[in-house]
Amino acid sequence: MEPPLDRSTTWPYVEGEVGPFHYSRNAHPVGVEAERVLGELEGGEALLFPSGMGASTALLLALIEPGKTVALAADAYYGTGVLLGELERWGIRHVLFDQTGTPPDGVDLVWIEAPSNPLLTMPDFAAAAAHPAPVVCDATAATPIHLRSLERGCDFALHSATKYLTGHHDAMLGAVICKQATQAARLRELRTRTGIVAAPDPAWLLLRGLKTLEVRVSRQTETAAALVERLREHPSVEAVRYPGFGALLSFDVASGEAARRVETRTTLIANATSLGGVGSTMESRFRWEGDRVPEGLLRLAVGLEPVEALWADLREALEAA
Ligand code: PLP
Repeated sequence: MEPPLDRSTTWPYVEGEVGPFHYSRNAHPVGVEAERVLGELEGGEALLFPSGMGASTALLLALIEPGKTVALAADAYYGTGVLLGELERWGIRHVLFDQTGTPPDGVDLVWIEAPSNPLLTMPDFAAAAAHPAPVVCDATAATPIHLRSLERGCDFALHSATKYLTGHHDAMLGAVICKQATQAARLRELRTRTGIVAAPDPAWLLLRGLKTLEVRVSRQTETAAALVERLREHPSVEAVRYPGFGALLSFDVASGEAARRVETRTTLIANATSLGGVGSTMESRFRWEGDRVPEGLLRLAVGLEPVEALWADLREALEAA
C-alpha cells in the first residue's frame, strides 16, 4: 500500500525537538518513501525534483561552477541544451559531442542520454565511464527496467519522471539517483536551499506508477518492437530509429508537410507532445527542435493500446504521407 498522502508542510516538534519531518521543503513522508523505492530500483540514492528540468537544473548547480565546461551529447533532449545555453550567463560553458564515441578531454562533466530523444542513439558507456569527469545519464526513455546506468559506470542517473516512471501523463516530476552518498547529501542540501522540491502529490503518483512500471514497460516494448518491424516495411517510411528496447521510436516520412498530414490523421494515437504514458502520443519534432531533426521526423511513444489497433491507426494515417 502507498502511504497516506500527507500534504502537511509542517509537523509538530517532538517534545521540543526536531523530529524526522519538520518542514516539507526539507523532506516529506511520501517523498522519502518514493525516493526509497526508486533508489532500490536504480541501485543508488534517489532525490525527487518538481520536473525533469528541475532535476537537471539542480544537478548542474550542484556539480558545476563558473568557468567549468559540460560535454553534452549532441542529440540529447533539446531542452537540456537550451538550459545549458541559459546557464552561459553564469559562466557555465558547454560543448556538444557524439555520444556514440569518446567524450572530449578537458571537460568537467559528461552528460549522456540513453537512448537519446528523439534520434534514439545509445551512448558508449565504457568511453564515458573512462572519462575522469563525473558522468550524468539521462535514462528517461530507457527506464530502470531496461537500464541501470549506475551499474554502467555513471555517477548519476536522471529521469523526467513525468514520463514512464509516473506513466499516466498526469504528474510533473524529476529524479536524480546518485551513486555516492556524499553526492546525494550535497544535492539534498542544495535542493533544500534553492527550494527546487517536489510536492507530495506527484511523489504519491510516482509510488503508484512504480508498481506497474515493469508491466507497462514490458508490454509497451513488445508493441513498439512489432510496430518498428511493420514501419520498416512501409513504402512511405524512409527511416526508422529504434535502439532495440523501450517504447520510444522515431521514423521519417518524405517531408514536413507529409509529417503534418500523418500526425493529424491518427485517431487512437494522440497528436501531442511528451512520452511515457499509457496512451500513445505522436508528433513531428521539427516544430520544437528545428534543424536538429529531419523535417519529416515523427516521434512515437507507444502506449498500452492493442498492437493491431495501433498499427491500423498508423497505417491509415500513413496513407496521407
Ligand atoms: N529528459 C528527457 C529525455 C525528456 O524527454 C524530457 C522531457 O521531455 C526531460 C528530460 C525534461 O523533463 P520534464 O518535462 O519533466 O521537465
